Parts: sequence; structure tokens; C-alpha cells
Amino acid sequence: MSELHKFLFDGLPVRGMVVRLTDAWVEILRRRASAHPTAAYPLPVQNLLGEMVAAATLMQSNIKFNGSLILQIFGDGPVKLAVVEVQPDLGLRATATVSGDVAAEASLSTMVNVNNEGKCAITLDPKTRFPGQQPYQGVVPLFGDQREKLESLSDVLQHYMLQSEQLDTTLVLAADDKVAAGLLIQRLPMEGVGNLAGSAVSQANEDEIGLNEHYNRIAILASTLKREELLTLDVETILRRLFWEEKLLRFEPLTGDAAPRFECTCSRERVSRMIAGLGLEEAQSILAERGGIEVGCEFCGVQYQFDPIDVAQIFTVAGALPPSSDIVQ
Ligand SMILES: [Zn+2]
Repeated sequence: MSELHKFLFDGLPVRGMVVRLTDAWVEILRRRASAHPTAAYPLPVQNLLGEMVAAATLMQSNIKFNGSLILQIFGDGPVKLAVVEVQPDLGLRATATVSGDVAAEASLSTMVNVNNEGKCAITLDPKTRFPGQQPYQGVVPLFGDQREKLESLSDVLQHYMLQSEQLDTTLVLAADDKVAAGLLIQRLPMEGVGNLAGSAVSQANEDEIGLNEHYNRIAILASTLKREELLTLDVETILRRLFWEEKLLRFEPLTGDAAPRFECTCSRERVSRMIAGLGLEEAQSILAERGGIEVGCEFCGVQYQFDPIDVAQIFTVAGALPPSSDIVQ
């Protein structure tokens, strides 16, 4: 079963987290395979999306924020978009849009960053917004300081955390068709807590970047963790192997009902809003062409059907419904 473990290094300004998604991840892949019988993800896309799911779950657990965290990668290769959305209670969903061939050995850059124009975006969308409030979004390229293409998602996200949050972070991520897992080690910010919502970070914190000896030692230990170990070992074994000389303060792990799990936030009502957003003319032209409107949720595979009477009803009440921004076909 899926589980998430948080811990602190006793007396040191370093925290950590391990996530292992099993049932939640398998459910995402199962729904994709049944909704698109000929289009189960190519292996490299599956593994990238799994790493994104693990990373987004770690990032959502790492912040105190009442809203969804959305991690997206998009660019100029055959993978047009990969997106993961994690709710504050760790309900999560994920999907990727693939158009074109992805080689069995495809790297991050051949999938999504062919001309070095790929991007990674992290959006925090608050559950309740003030009037006029926009979601917070940070966007980084998929290249490093010398414009060299980054070939691992963990490098991209470490770079992001350093640039936008001024926080030293080490991530180890891995996924296959059964497990999506990740380890996060982060230096705790000095005063003026830096967080994803972009609050001020103190000079004292900036001075510490890359220089805290405790963080550096623990980060080196963490980065010895191999993909195979992360995928196959249980959390207790991983923590013992890596940090047997450190004193860990463990929190109650999130397992069972509290564990990260697959959950889609789509609904007939939200799809109705999207149809309303198309406008009456567009909706009528689809009806004329196909006799009805069918909308499939890219995240969970549910098909929503609207016949002409349903569509007429949408437009009788459409004035009261703002358009939806859901990603749907
Ligand atoms: Zn759905």
C-alpha cells in the first residue's frame, strides 16, 4: 500500500521525507490503459510521470497550503504535456499527452526538451481565492546554469527549489510500472521561512545555501540511494541503510486512509461548465456534427455524455456558471 514518512535529523537543520506509491500509482496506469487501449504510456513516459507523481506528493506534503499543487512539464518533444495534481489531503491524479514516437531509451530531453525549450511549472491553486487572486506559479527551464540540458527530473526540481525557494534540496526519484517513489532531503530555512508561496527569505538563509555542513553530509548520503533500492526496499530498510549513523526523529507515517491515493476531481458539473465556456454556437455545431457531446476525463478515463437536451439545459443556466479550466479532451 502507498505510504509517506516524514522525519527530522535531531538537532540539525535538516528534514526528510520518503514516499512510496504503489496502489495509487498502479491505479493511474490501469485507468490510462483501459481508457486508451492502444495508448498505454511508453516506458520512458510512464517512468517520468511516476517520478513526477512521487515528487509532487513530496512537495505538497512539504508545504502548509490549503489548495492543490500542480506539477507540469511541457515542451517541444513527443511528450506535449505531463501533469500531476495533488490535493492537500494527498488525493492525486496524473496524465500525460503523447503525440509521436517515444523510443524505448528516450531521455528527458528527447521526450520534452528537444530544442531546449521545455519547461517545468509548479502551480499552487488555493481552495478559496480572494477576488482577483491568481494561483501562484513558478516556471523553470529544463536546463542548468550553463544552458546544459538537464536529464533527470530530480535535477530540474532541485534547481527549482534553489532558485525560487532558496532551499538546498536533494531529491532521489524512481518509478516503474508498480512503484513510484521518492526521497526528499531539505535544509530547513533560517528565519523568514522560504516557501513555495514566495515569502521573503532572509539574508542569513541565503548565506547558508550550499554551506551547511550537516545538510551537505546528509545530502551526500541520500544521493547514494540507487533507483533499484528505492523501488524494491521498504522504507525502514532504506532509512537504516542511508542514515544508520544519524539520529532521526520520526513522525507517524501516513498509511491506510491517510496515505496518498488516486482521486480525480472531475465531475459532470465541471464538464458542464466547460461546455458552457465553449459558447452556444460551438456547442450547437458539435451537436449538429455528432448528435451529442462526449467529453472524456484525461485523468480518470470517465466519459461524460451530453445529449441535445442536456446541452440545452446547460445553456439555459449558463449565465450563472463561470467557464471551467479543466484539462479535458
Ligand atoms: Zn476524472
